[in-house]
Amino acid sequence: MSDAVDADQVVVALDVGGTGMKCALVRPDGVTVRTERHPTNASRGPTAVVGTILDVAEGLAEKARADGLTPIAVGIAVPGVVDEARGVAVWSANVGFRDVPLRGLAVRRLGLPTTLGHDVRVGGLAEARLGAGRGTGHVLFVAIGTGIAAAHVVDGRAAVGAHDAAGEIGHILVRPDGPRCGCGRPGCLEAIASASAIGRRYAELAGATADAPVTAAEVAERAAAGEPLAGEVWQEAVEALADGLATGQALYDVATIVLGGGLAQAGDRLLTPLRAALHERMTFHREPRLVAAALGDEAGCLGAALLALDAVGVRDHQEKR
Ligand SMILES: [Zn+2]
Repeated sequence: MSDAVDADQVVVALDVGGTGMKCALVRPDGVTVRTERHPTNASRGPTAVVGTILDVAEGLAEKARADGLTPIAVGIAVPGVVDEARGVAVWSANVGFRDVPLRGLAVRRLGLPTTLGHDVRVGGLAEARLGAGRGTGHVLFVAIGTGIAAAHVVDGRAAVGAHDAAGEIGHILVRPDGPRCGCGRPGCLEAIASASAIGRRYAELAGATADAPVTAAEVAERAAAGEPLAGEVWQEAVEALADGLATGQALYDVATIVLGGGLAQAGDRLLTPLRAALHERMTFHREPRLVAAALGDEAGCLGAALLALDAVGVRDHQEKR
């Protein structure tokens, strides 16, 4: 940790997703000075995607220098299985990575210290330090989108796990006789409560009367408008989520649970019934504060920057701002 941080220092940060890359120059105090978005075009294959990542990172470093700033590190976040210690993107379903040594490639290309992080873990890091979990030492960040994954952040550090797989809360078994999960087992949390599972369940029950495919956000809206079928599907998801979060709370005893990802955009339509369902499940455990994420889709990029800053020993106590 350094007390004096040069005002002109920035980190080159990239959050690589299946469809797009969110990219930024971030100061050590967590302030973003430039943002860019680029398509991932994952169908081109991993080699082309890696080429784009390196081009974009190098371009941002050059723009920083042109603006009189000094790039001091690079932080890259990717989905899937990430070996942070070795800097390898081990596996990713939606980007197609298989054992890509991204950190080494970036170091060689940019000549800057580089860290590779997991998209949800760095998103949790950012929410815990700069967003909705700010000021609380123990945070569980839960991202609910096409899948469900979590990051357990203690004092500003996200646990990685012994096999780089901490936080797979979506695969907590909540309904043993429930629908089959993408992982192959029936009854996982994300097979019932992910945004895609909610849309699928609604379509299944609506049967022939279903109009176009219905998103989870629309199910929430219809439930709020009093449609019984939507209400039933939404409540099923809420109960399953509460079961998963109660397990999380039993394991981690956090002060704050931050809900992110697409489903969290349902706001109080999700938070209000979920708080009630979680409350019902608490016995002697202390009930966590349940809040929506505050950083939106920039959390991954900010978190990638924080991870890079931590790695080079610059931690300007963003919390102090
Ligand atoms: Zn599963």
